[in-house]
Amino acid sequence: MTLVTIGSTSPRIVSCPTCGKPVTWVAENRFRPFCSERCKQIDLGAWAAEDYRVPQPEQPDPDEMN
Ligand SMILES: [Zn+2]
Repeated sequence: MTLVTIGSTSPRIVSCPTCGKPVTWVAENRFRPFCSERCKQIDLGAWAAEDYRVPQPEQPDPDEMN
C-alpha cells in the first residue's frame, strides 16, 4: 500500500482583513479569511454601511437660503 505524501501540508496563513491577525486558511475556519466571527461581522457591517450610504453631493439646502 502506497501512501501519497502531499508536498505542502502546512496550511496557508493569511492576514485577517479586519484586524490583521494571522489566520490559518483551513476548512475548519469558517470565518476565513477573518480570524473570528467578530471580525467577519465588522467587515460585513462596513460593507453594508458603504452600500447603503447614498452619496450626497454638497448642495445648498433651499430651506436654509433665507
Ligand atoms: Zn481579525
